[in-house]
Amino acid sequence: MSKRDYYEVLGLSKDAAEADIKKAYRKLALKYHPDKNPGDTEAEDLFKEAAEAYSVLSDAEKRARYDRFGHQAGGGFGGFDPSAFSDFSDILGDFFFGGGGRRRRGSTGIPGADLRYDLSLTFEEAAFGKTAEIRFPRLETCDTCSGSGSRSGQVTTCATCQGHGQVRMSQGFFTVARTCPSCGGEGKQVSDPCGTCRGDGRVETQQSLEVTIPAGVDTGIRLRLRGEGEHGRRGGPPGDLDVVLRVEPHERFERDGADVHEKVTLSYSQLVLGTSLEVKTLHGTEKLKVPAGTQHGHRFRLRGQGIERLDVERRGDHFVHIELKVPSMKELSDEQVAMLRRLSELEGTEVHEGGGVMKKFKKLFT
Ligand SMILES: [Zn+2]
Ligand SMILES: [Zn+2]
Repeated sequence: MSKRDYYEVLGLSKDAAEADIKKAYRKLALKYHPDKNPGDTEAEDLFKEAAEAYSVLSDAEKRARYDRFGHQAGGGFGGFDPSAFSDFSDILGDFFFGGGGRRRRGSTGIPGADLRYDLSLTFEEAAFGKTAEIRFPRLETCDTCSGSGSRSGQVTTCATCQGHGQVRMSQGFFTVARTCPSCGGEGKQVSDPCGTCRGDGRVETQQSLEVTIPAGVDTGIRLRLRGEGEHGRRGGPPGDLDVVLRVEPHERFERDGADVHEKVTLSYSQLVLGTSLEVKTLHGTEKLKVPAGTQHGHRFRLRGQGIERLDVERRGDHFVHIELKVPSMKELSDEQVAMLRRLSELEGTEVHEGGGVMKKFKKLFT
């Protein structure tokens, strides 16, 4: 069997950028992951094929070799172990973290801290996605001093640590290095602090940001917005902003992944004789025929009426769980009770005498 071209496998052109290769692979990995397609050997093969293509094209040296010699380059291209990618949540997590590589740690400055924002969504907002505007305070580079922290812009080497950022301290027989208390590890000092930021180089400002929430998110998912955290100090890189999602419960629906579950209670006669229901799903009203003789606990599936899946373009299902409604004696009219007694007679079953214990009680107190 001839091997497919790696670029073809990932659906890319020969000049695809590194980021595109990663993106294309993630998409395929999410779609064909064995956890999502149990027992589907075709999906498994496609998953392995994509993993192999990615293992070669994501490595600059292997890619160059492959570009020149194709599959003939041989040696070391096969035998890629897809179990290395078995942590599905990891891939999904990274997927949401937007890619774009790890944070660059600059050689100068102090990186800004990561921030966390907890965002509550209604059941419907999580199902359909939305654009949310979030507001939060953030430390940003001070405009007055352009982040230097100094009024004059002059920054001197820290006298305490001589610019090392660390001081050595003796503890018994040991000498340990500690972050310099004078400059906080920067190695620099500001003799005339900026009045706006008091020498920090950053000021707290109110930030507002539009966040796109994709359809199908669930509680616990984090959307990482790279570089939207606190600004760094003295030219350090900014931190990230994690938007952590929480989905509020729905009054009628319960959610299990992309599936929606709903309880519907019906009377004994409805279950015995059959009925038809109007089921309000997330997407509209569906007619549901409940056939005669439907059992308590039976569930009906309305395909594709659930929530959007995050990885594939397909919706989950809407399940209707049928429950028998057993009325209390006070909910029944005398005529209904008489009918039930007659029914019991016809069935040849034994029931309580008179109006039942509760009705007798009621009579005693009224
Ligand atoms: Zn110092
Ligand atoms: Zn300032």
